[in-house]
Amino acid sequence: PGPQLPFDSSKKTLVVLGSGWGATSLLKTLDTTEYNVPEELLPLHTLAPERRRRHAEPRSIIQPTRYITRHKTRSVAVIEAEASDVDPVNKTITFQDTSEIKGSVSSTTIPFDYLVYAVGAEVQTFNIPGVQQNACFMKELHDAERMQRQFMDCIESAAFPGQDPQEVERLLHMVVVGGGPTGIELSGELHDFLEACSRSHDDLKAWYPEMAGKVRITLVEALPSVLPTFSKQLINYTESTFKESKIDILTKTMVKEVKENSVVLQMPDKSIKEVPCGMVVWAAGNKGRKLTQDLMAKLPETQKNRRGIEVDDFLRMKGSDSIFALGDCTATSYAPTAQVASQQGAYLARVLHQMAKRDNLTEKLLELESVAPAVVGEEEKKKVVEELENAKNQLAKVKLRPFHYSHQGSLAYIGSEKAIADLPFMNGNFASGGVATYLFWRSAYLSTLFSLRNRTLVATDWLKVKLFGRDVSRD
Ligand code: NAD
Repeated sequence: PGPQLPFDSSKKTLVVLGSGWGATSLLKTLDTTEYNVPEELLPLHTLAPERRRRHAEPRSIIQPTRYITRHKTRSVAVIEAEASDVDPVNKTITFQDTSEIKGSVSSTTIPFDYLVYAVGAEVQTFNIPGVQQNACFMKELHDAERMQRQFMDCIESAAFPGQDPQEVERLLHMVVVGGGPTGIELSGELHDFLEACSRSHDDLKAWYPEMAGKVRITLVEALPSVLPTFSKQLINYTESTFKESKIDILTKTMVKEVKENSVVLQMPDKSIKEVPCGMVVWAAGNKGRKLTQDLMAKLPETQKNRRGIEVDDFLRMKGSDSIFALGDCTATSYAPTAQVASQQGAYLARVLHQMAKRDNLTEKLLELESVAPAVVGEEEKKKVVEELENAKNQLAKVKLRPFHYSHQGSLAYIGSEKAIADLPFMNGNFASGGVATYLFWRSAYLSTLFSLRNRTLVATDWLKVKLFGRDVSRD
């Protein structure tokens, strides 16, 4: 990229908090000539679905924010830190450096004129005992790394010479909790990983020939069925694909406790059963972040919704004229999905552009109105009146349109190179499952990733998987 415009004190400062789908989509569309933009990354909270894919390298996904900002007209300051306080009245954000290596300053407060609040959500544990301590999560990048480490530890301990056969069985039993899209995709990916590993040329089989075929996956869901938002036909398709993949689905079964070496289940008949396992992966849903609750508590008159931040039709946080909120941290009629957040991000970038245009015209109008009375000479007077009319007409044309969500359908990967899709097709619904859908899912996924470089990296990660298998080593 060419040289970028520097900080301009005459422009408003726009802070973007978050680096997930919503914030990234906003940044991609935003015209930075209009604003100064410090973008604050919540560390490791981005693009969870793709990061979950164990075989996409972290670098492929971390890249977008910094890569996108390098191509903006005005330089964007990217700060990797965790926000600890948002003050909607004094319009400031305080944030901390939470990385392991710190300089002498590790906390600071910056002002904003506008804030785009897009911090997403965090894992919901329902305060179920042992979840925080003993389960793996699948939200942030370090979660995926932890899961990979734990998985390999299980395999290695199971392969330990003279290991007790019952212990081998326990260590090789992986339990996924939650039958929503996250739990389903995760089980499918876990199965794929094992499949690839048990092919004769692959690492795991070569290293642990005894272990590869013995790994079991169980998916536990409290409701009567998995994927409640998908059609019955697609639920059946998913269930039969899982059956073929030897993934056990336990529905109407609730996890009551996660212990170090087991998971405690309440079975459909309400009996309690303790099931030994080597690893529990928690995908039981999300809840609002503490930062969001604290921010809402500062606007108690207008922010009362327990599901999240209430926004108006223009994504403005109710009760504030300077904060916009989007994505999973908001309480709207839309599902908390990447698709909604991406559309909101792009929409907000357009709104901010319109607002800058409106502010510039208003400023120009005020200036013209103040100089008009002092203008002498017929020609000059006529010119100022014309300019005034012009600015008024242009200002009247600046219209902020409310956000409108266009649903492109739901897609989920279910393993074995199969995906399911609920697509709004013509007037009815088009439901599809299978390998062709998977190819569509993959291309749809790639087209929503944000930069060509990023797209290429993710694609080559997949290619590397195809050519060389996955890297299962921990080094
Ligand atoms: P979710 O809330 O959709 O599903 C969590 C599931 O866990 C629920 O079905 C719940 O009944 C179950 N559960 C909760 N506690 C339990 C317990 N103690 N024992 C057993 N089961 C329990 O969460 P998600 O799957 O993470 O999805 C979150 C959002 O992200 C959704 O809106 C989803 O559509 C979206 N998403 C979409 C995709 C996709 O479209 N491909 C992928 C991932 C996530």
